[in-house]
Amino acid sequence: MNTIGHYINGESITDSNRPQPVFNPALGEPVRQVAMASRATVEQAIAAAEAAFPAWRKTPPLKRARILFAYKALLDKHADRIVAAIVEEHGKVWEDAQGELQRGIEVVEYACGASEFLKGEHSRDVGPEIDSWSEFPPLGVVAGITPFNFPSMVPMWMFPMAIACGNCFVLKPSEKDPSAPMILAELLTEAGLPPGVFNVVNGDKEAVDTLLTDARVKAVSFVGSTPIAEYIYATGTAHGKRVQALGGAKNHAVVMPDADLDNAVNALMGAAYGSCGERCMAISVVVAVGDAVADALVARLKPKVEALVIGNGSARGLDMGPLVTGAHRDKVRGYIDLGAEEGAELLVDGRKLKVAGHENGFFLGGTLFDHVKPTMRIYKEEIFGPVLAIVRVHSLAEAIALIDAHEFGNGTCVFTRDGAVARHFTDSVQVGMVGVNVPLPVPVACQSFGGWKRSLFGDLYAYGPDAVRFYTRRKTLTQRWPSAGIEKAQFAFPSNG
Ligand code: NAD
Repeated sequence: MNTIGHYINGESITDSNRPQPVFNPALGEPVRQVAMASRATVEQAIAAAEAAFPAWRKTPPLKRARILFAYKALLDKHADRIVAAIVEEHGKVWEDAQGELQRGIEVVEYACGASEFLKGEHSRDVGPEIDSWSEFPPLGVVAGITPFNFPSMVPMWMFPMAIACGNCFVLKPSEKDPSAPMILAELLTEAGLPPGVFNVVNGDKEAVDTLLTDARVKAVSFVGSTPIAEYIYATGTAHGKRVQALGGAKNHAVVMPDADLDNAVNALMGAAYGSCGERCMAISVVVAVGDAVADALVARLKPKVEALVIGNGSARGLDMGPLVTGAHRDKVRGYIDLGAEEGAELLVDGRKLKVAGHENGFFLGGTLFDHVKPTMRIYKEEIFGPVLAIVRVHSLAEAIALIDAHEFGNGTCVFTRDGAVARHFTDSVQVGMVGVNVPLPVPVACQSFGGWKRSLFGDLYAYGPDAVRFYTRRKTLTQRWPSAGIEKAQFAFPSNG
């Protein structure tokens, strides 16, 4: 069986250290293996990145952008190959994988504006013959550690901006779907990126811990579950690194009595069950304001959840594929068992699903619970599967209080036709990304992505303008060219007073 190694210094590196199986979740079978990098292999990648940094740092931003333009063209050309790799190892359906790749490409497009966003800030005549300005030099070697659920998009939240800013990058992708990141690396080399500027090490905790503790790594971007995000933030910052660690979520959609219910229900279907609910921005809780709204939602949602078209994501036109691994499928199934035990009303039970010809696949059907209470574990915990919970409240204020009391604060949205409601909701809710009649308010590439509370550890969001701040360090210069002769020493603190 083929074993995926690493990508270091512009070359694929073979490695058979501690190989782990990589599954096709639709078939429930291993299709290849991936090596787990040793500390020495990760150190080799860091050394390659460090060696490439002096020349890359001096490469004009326009020339860096030119490589990214070529890269964008190659990503378009090889899109089907990348999408096929995502579908095979992650299990999401073809059109969904196309969507994630496209959102990653959009970050590459934004990163092509490096000359503009790195030009600095200038203040002339801040004092007598004195000018002052800020420059934004790169940090050096920076690392990214990414989750299974977006094997192309989440790495592209990080490295296009990092390298556009002049850094060299080491990526540690998820061991569950490693093929797409390897294609992303090969195409960067083909686009003309110098060896060592971008490297991929596959691996697990050993690789991650090496990146977190090696003094040559100046910053770490992480996306994954909250317990690991917290560990990454604590360990990375204790070792003097700049860290942004994006964690888990439980995203609520509030449905007001005046909402356009048919459109809201269609939006909720895609947001809750798209990618089998394995999205950090997936809607997992519907907060129905009033029993009449809840009953109307149930009447519309139930038949649609029962009618979800589920199968092998390599076919076209499906709604949902399998979950990523057998262990994760069992964990999500355990939450359905738990919800029933906790007393929630199980309206659609995904445990019964069978997909003909794919009996060993990691499938689970769409699941819908009503009368879920905030004290239940199925409400409090991130399930990360095709399970939607309806919570009934009496007012908008109660809905907002519910959302604000939750430990996570990644995304939320409100469905309403009332501008005042929308304005009050967006202004007061304690969540990082907020939608109005938009169920997945994932910011576009020229904005930045991040949650609040225990959905993000660190101060800066991913990609967009925050990424420029994250991957550079401000240096402020003050310069004077005196035209007069000798001046007296000044002992008062210099000011314009
Ligand atoms: P995960 O936390 O298990 O893994 C993420 C990365 O951390 C992987 O590269 C993995 O190899 C590594 N890792 C795992 N255990 C580790 C350990 N003990 N020590 C060091 N490194 C370790 O997450 P996942 O299951 O791959 O992804 C799903 C999670 O990611 C969900 O919680 C989801 O909400 C979250 N997520 C969040 C965002 C966001 O933007 N906030 C986006 C996507 C996914």
